[in-house]
Amino acid sequence: MAFSMTLTPAQQDLVERTHRFAEEVIRPVAEEYDRREEFPWPVLEAAAEEGFYNPLFYRDLIGDPTGLSLPLFMEELFWGCAGIGLAIVMPALALSAMAQAATAEQLLKWAPECFGEPGALKLAALCVSEPEGGSDVRNLRTRARREGDEWVIDGHKIWIGNGGIADVHVVNATVDPELGHRGQALFIVPGGTPGLHMVRKLEKLGCRASHTAELTFSSCRIPAENLLGGDAKLERRMQKARDGVNGRSSTLGAFEQTRPMVAAQALGIARAALEYACEYATKREAFGEPILDKQGISFPLADLAADLDAARLLTWRASWLAAQGHEYHHAEGSMSKLKASETAVRIAEHAIQVCGGYGYVRDLPVEKWYRDAKLYTIFEGTSEIQRVVIGRTLADPAPPLHHRVPPEGPALSRTLGRGTKTRSIVAGKAMRVAANAPPALMKLPMKVIAPPSKPSARGTDQTSRS
Ligand SMILES: Cc1cc2nc3c(=O)[nH]c(=O)nc-3n(C[C@H](O)[C@H](O)[C@H](O)COP(=O)(O)OP(=O)(O)OC[C@H]3O[C@@H](n4cnc5c(N)ncnc54)[C@H](O)[C@@H]3O)c2cc1C
Repeated sequence: MAFSMTLTPAQQDLVERTHRFAEEVIRPVAEEYDRREEFPWPVLEAAAEEGFYNPLFYRDLIGDPTGLSLPLFMEELFWGCAGIGLAIVMPALALSAMAQAATAEQLLKWAPECFGEPGALKLAALCVSEPEGGSDVRNLRTRARREGDEWVIDGHKIWIGNGGIADVHVVNATVDPELGHRGQALFIVPGGTPGLHMVRKLEKLGCRASHTAELTFSSCRIPAENLLGGDAKLERRMQKARDGVNGRSSTLGAFEQTRPMVAAQALGIARAALEYACEYATKREAFGEPILDKQGISFPLADLAADLDAARLLTWRASWLAAQGHEYHHAEGSMSKLKASETAVRIAEHAIQVCGGYGYVRDLPVEKWYRDAKLYTIFEGTSEIQRVVIGRTLADPAPPLHHRVPPEGPALSRTLGRGTKTRSIVAGKAMRVAANAPPALMKLPMKVIAPPSKPSARGTDQTSRS
């Protein structure tokens, strides 16, 4: 399916419904949950009622062949509040990792446990990062060892969204440390399992409505069937690693898939901040005119507006590639996360500048957006790690992506389509004939040669030459 920015009616509805939810349900309580650093249970209930909190909803969005549904949803939701947005979508992150590794039976069993249902909601957590390092996931120290019909997990995790309060913890642990990330596997540790302990809830700079915790696992015993993918698959993967065959871990695969999803969350914060700054700048007057009339204010905002659209296009491209099953060749997922997160921080920071003193205090929401945006250059792979991933692809001299994605359309268009040599030669000949032929005879060929007429007033061209 070709990349398109035309939304389907279902996508249009999704955008409108999510935006309404963000505006009417999330925004009015965002400041309060942020200030109290409290988990927004009532908003989760409302999201569940609206159909935004169940595994099939995410299955549907991820399965959309255009790739746009998921980023569209994320941008609108996070436009409301990133902390509350994270609380709502955290189970989807755990589910995405689970889906990479689990058998169909395991997915059927555990996916509903990640969300529960309205009135009896459940939570899920993805537990990868550890105190000794989050970027270097090959070097994780949490261990899983087999004892009879059980796995026993020992280790220490930190920065875990929904950690300790989740009903389902998807835990990355090392079975064979010699094999790096390919000696690791994902395990389901249900909430309340003896040995799973929440050390503390972490106090954060931003996204404070979401719950983030430090956990320990001490001789934490789980049934053998809680190894995602099962024994045979793990053994095959580890054997391949021992034999030196290339491969990758489920966790790394999950991160690659979730990067455009996280990028779209940053776009939501960025858009909220940019809209606010622009509106403020039209209303706030200094030296007898709105500050937006001063180029010192409007030029940076113009640059940031262009950056935001560029970041969105990168995000949609990465999401479309993933949905179409095209491999990322030049780390297109990382490009989207890098650009969207850094753009969000710059926009939120500049929004504070535009609002002056009011921007620096809690009277206005811009300082919150700045605190929220900063997380996006850190989690799901820091900006430096995204650059490392992109940098590794630069040695590949492959041409730009559109050279490699297989073309679509009728085969004849290769010879007769726009820009083909045949058309060019025919047009040249027609013009030479037109110079000497009577006008009546040339009406038809002239239709082909004449400049194309503009599409009927679809957009407003506000170009000014003044
Ligand atoms: C609020 C929050 C929520 C989170 N949620 C989750 C979650 O739900 N589940 C989960 O598993 N994790 C989660 N994380 C963890 C997050 O993914 C890690 O914090 C992140 O990957 C960075 O790891 P680190 O903090 O250990 O930093 P480190 O890896 O110690 O990095 C420190 C610094 O060194 C840089 N650096 C490291 N390696 C390189 C390199 N090769 N080249 C250049 N620079 C490098 C980093 O970019 C960074 O600037 C969360 C984090 C936060 C803050």
